[in-house]
Amino acid sequence: MRIDILTLFPEMCEAFLSESIIGRARANGLVDIRCTNIRDFAGNKHNRVDDYPYGGGTGMVMQPGPIYDCYDAVTEHGARDCHLIYLTPQGMPLTQQRVRELAEMDDLVLLCGHYEGVDERVIEEIVDEQISIGDYVLTGGELPALVLADSISRMLPGVLANEEAYTEESLYGHLLEYPQYTRPPEWKGREVPEVLLSGDHGKVDRWRLEQSVARTLEQRPDLLEAAEASGELTKEEADILQALRSGEAHI
Ligand code: SAM
Repeated sequence: MRIDILTLFPEMCEAFLSESIIGRARANGLVDIRCTNIRDFAGNKHNRVDDYPYGGGTGMVMQPGPIYDCYDAVTEHGARDCHLIYLTPQGMPLTQQRVRELAEMDDLVLLCGHYEGVDERVIEEIVDEQISIGDYVLTGGELPALVLADSISRMLPGVLANEEAYTEESLYGHLLEYPQYTRPPEWKGREVPEVLLSGDHGKVDRWRLEQSVARTLEQRPDLLEAAEASGELTKEEADILQALRSGEAHI
């Protein structure tokens, strides 16, 4: 998969994308992520890419020309068939389900805004989808683009050691993940649950499922309600949920 990030701060993005799991995935050719500086397409001697908003108001607005020219160059003047996502607090909130769908695509372009945002006309001209990473406002689209690139990249074949690393994780389905523990077995008087040291895989699996359901009920009951409404809960999950709600089980 190829992901292009159009940004005024490519070094900021590169610093993150060169490290850890994503850095290794790029080095191994599992994902091709490139950052392009919109300012390189300013087309004026002061390299300006923003201007005052028509109609007045505070802040500056990114001009449509440099963004379009950057997009046009990156997409090889229309030769590449890309899906362009503008990161904006006005977009649809990002979910793991949407991440899974986007990971199926071959060619993504992520547009980062800055200042007060970008001229509406370039959104109309080139943007296919608008995504928000949450109901709060950041200074720029770089962190949201990195969030998106990271969440998509880790779903690509070979990036994580095995598929279970994400299929058993929070939000892949309708449950949050169970609590995780590692060595030492006792820390500050807190012990690792005995079942995890038992070596009985059946019991460990059951305990983890119970913990997942209990945790989701406590922290994200909306996920369970949606799964119930769409009939996604397994019989085992529904039984655990019923026992928790009726007070029969305390997990
Ligand atoms: N004036 C804009 C508005 O009210 O919708 C907000 C602009 S924000 C200060 C600057 C840039 O940061 C945006 O163009 C967008 O690219 C990015 N941004 C800020 N918050 C975001 C969020 N929650 N999700 C995605 N992108 C965001």
